[in-house]
Order: sequence, then C-alpha cells, then structure tokens
Amino acid sequence: MQYDVIIIGAGASGLICASEAARRKRSVLVVDHMKSIGSKIRVSGGGRCNFTNLIISPENYISGNVDFCRSALSRFGPSDFTGLLDRHGIQYREKSAGQLFLTKGSEEIINMLHKECSTSGVELLLQTGIRNVIKDGLFELSTDKGRFTSSSLVVATGGLSYPALGATGIGYRIAKSFGMEVTELQPGLVPFEFQERDLKTFSTLSGISVRAGISCNKARFTENILFTHRGLSGPGILQISLYWSKGGRISIDLLPDLDASNYLTSKSGSNMILGNAISSFFPRRLVRSLFDETLTSKPLKELSSSDIQGISARLHKWVVTPRGPEGYNKAEVTRGGVDTRELSSKTMESKKVPGLFFAGEVIDITGQLGGYNLQWAWSSGHAAGQYV
Ligand SMILES: Cc1cc2nc3c(=O)[nH]c(=O)nc-3n(C[C@H](O)[C@H](O)[C@H](O)COP(=O)(O)OP(=O)(O)OC[C@H]3O[C@@H](n4cnc5c(N)ncnc54)[C@H](O)[C@@H]3O)c2cc1C
Repeated sequence: MQYDVIIIGAGASGLICASEAARRKRSVLVVDHMKSIGSKIRVSGGGRCNFTNLIISPENYISGNVDFCRSALSRFGPSDFTGLLDRHGIQYREKSAGQLFLTKGSEEIINMLHKECSTSGVELLLQTGIRNVIKDGLFELSTDKGRFTSSSLVVATGGLSYPALGATGIGYRIAKSFGMEVTELQPGLVPFEFQERDLKTFSTLSGISVRAGISCNKARFTENILFTHRGLSGPGILQISLYWSKGGRISIDLLPDLDASNYLTSKSGSNMILGNAISSFFPRRLVRSLFDETLTSKPLKELSSSDIQGISARLHKWVVTPRGPEGYNKAEVTRGGVDTRELSSKTMESKKVPGLFFAGEVIDITGQLGGYNLQWAWSSGHAAGQYV
C-alpha cells in the first residue's frame, strides 16, 4: 500500500502530525507496535496530563542548540493547543506557575487526537512490529503486517524512557541507518541513587519531603525534594537531573528561605537545644541524619561562631555526589537524541535525506518538568505535519 505520509509512533507528536498532514489532504498511515495510542499521554501528569506551560521559551529546554525549538514553539504554542482543547470542549486549569492540566483526565486528549485523526481520514495500524526501513525513491516500511511505501516518513517514536509504555530505541536506529548523528543519550527527569555511604545515612528518611534549593552546573531550582529508600527524588531533583553529568555533584540548600547563620546568631543567648531549633524547620529524623548528636544536644548559647558557620554550611550547602540516576524505567524523558544540526528547525526534515522527518522526544530537545515536553511534541509534530 502506498501513502503520502507514514508516521512511525502514535504518541503525542505522531498524532498531532498525522492530523495536521491529513488536514492538508495528505493520505496518512500511522504505525505503532502498541495496542493503543498515546500510552505516555495517558500516564502523564499523574493521569491529568500537564499538557503545556503558559510560560515557555527556549530556556526551558536542554539541547545542543536550544534555539532549534524557537520556530516550532512560536508557530504552534500553548494557546494553539488550548484552542484545540476549547474547540473540543475539554476543560483544563492552571495548577502552578503556568502549568496547565486537564480537569478530568488524560484520556480526553487521547480521544481528541483520535477524533482529529479519524475525521480527517488518518489510518491507524496498531500492534505492528517494524522490521526494516529503507529509501529507494520512496520510503519502504517492512512490518509484520506487510510492506508500505510513502514519499514522506515521520519518525515520532519518542525516547528510551518507560519501555513498558512502548519506548524502544528505533528512532535513533533509523536516524543512524540514514547516516544521521545522534547525540549522547541519558535518562532525564529521573530520581538519583545515593552512593553506598549516603545510602546508609539517609535511606531511613524515605518518605520525607522538604522544600529546597537544588543546584548543579549553574542551574538552580527551588522545589521540593523527596527522600526515597534508594536516594533522592521529587520535582527539584527531577529538574536538576537534566543538568547533571556523570560524576557530578549536586548542592542542596535545605533552608532556601532563611539565613541559618543569622537565625542561630540571633538566638545565641538562648537555652534552647540546637536539635529543637532546627527541628522547627524540618523533621527531627532529617536533623539526626545531618548532624552529630553531641552537637544537636547543645544549647544555642553554647555554640561558637565556628559551630554556627559549620551548621549553616551543612544546611545551605549539603553536597551530594549521586551514584547515578535511576534508569530509563524511572525517567520521564530521554536527554539527547537526533542532533538538531541534522534537521531543519522550520520543517523538522532531515537535511541529508529529503522526505525524512523527526518529531518529539526523539530529537535532541528535552524540556524541563512542567508541561514542556508535551508542548515540544505538539509543536514539532505540528511543524512536520505542515511540510510532509
Ligand atoms: C510517567 C511519565 C509522565 C510524564 N508526564 C509528563 C507531563 O505531565 N507533561 C509533559 O510535558 N511531559 C510528560 N512526560 C513526557 C512526555 O510524555 C513525552 O515527552 C512525550 O509523550 C513525547 O512524545 P513523543 O510523541 O515524542 O513520544 P511518545 O509519546 O513516547 O510516542 C512514541 C510512540 O512511538 C511508539 N514506538 C516506539 N517504538 C516503536 C517501535 N519500535 N515500533 C512502533 N512504534 C514504536 C510508542 O509505542 C509510542 O506510541 C511524561 C513521561 C512519562 C514517562
């Protein structure tokens, strides 16, 4: 069977690309190996899908060239996607700092994309394994359900994260098979594991969540961190994981809204025990793990100024060198991907292989936590859909 466009991947970017291409009267086939479409959309945002962010710019992305995303984001941005939701009568709300979530649940976006595709004549071929992709004049896709050809091929296969939701490395393999560069891949938006030594000290804190300032390689976020039985997680840690590289250190400010040194100095005449003073800010278990008991049982009036400086440094600059990130099973995204230098930022088409397009997470554009990854999927998928 021959089509104008074949899209591999019935996820966020593939579906929006399909509906845009079909709106332009292209014949479109979407192929996916999973049983249903939009598996990641379904679980995203804890089932409520943080589908975009109203405050968006290239600075919210990590890439070899963050400016690559500028054109697609400006041509199909948050208001274009909310316009689509409005036309389908789907309700959403702003949760915090520009993050938009669905009021009812992720299934609504999946149904909307399905409807957009089916009314414009997109054909869906699910549970279909891909054996081979070549270009011989037309693109030829060999699958376990037959052979299909097209003049444009869109690779919208996402990254390596969450294999249980359909992720495979096929998009990177296709790019390489056509002689295109793929940058280094790494799990992103992912919890960290402690080194053995820290694991002994801090694993008992599992479940404790505190607001903190987290920095790594010039990036800084003030968000919650969560102690787990393996290491650290929570939004602040997921964010900083995008900026961490192997062997790197993370600096954690456990009291981002208070100067501990000034506070302790102002109480320096007090009989209050240090442990009690610090426990007013966070759980006693955490205090016990951070400080020696002889120190925490001292009254504040007995603390020397060097004690105060030491305590303050521990609270404001707790340095952790993680063993590494948890794997792709726990990573919301894959950092890295098809090198942006290989693609046109306007059309998402390969510069080397005319007719070959990429969209979504498979490209070396990774968004911060907060709806940026789905918005990139919508924007890049739409951009490709306009030119296939
Ligand atoms: C748990 C979780 C929560 C998330 N929450 C959010 C959130 O709230 N907000 C946000 O912005 N982002 C979130 N993300 C990230 C976001 O879901 C992805 O970045 C986005 O879905 C990427 O879209 P995509 O179209 O590039 O890829 P995907 O949506 O992953 O789609 C890729 C498609 O390709 C198919 N495919 C892969 N390999 C093959 C193959 N070999 N053969 C055939 N088909 C194949 C897959 O089955 C899949 O359907 C979350 C991710 C996870 C894992």
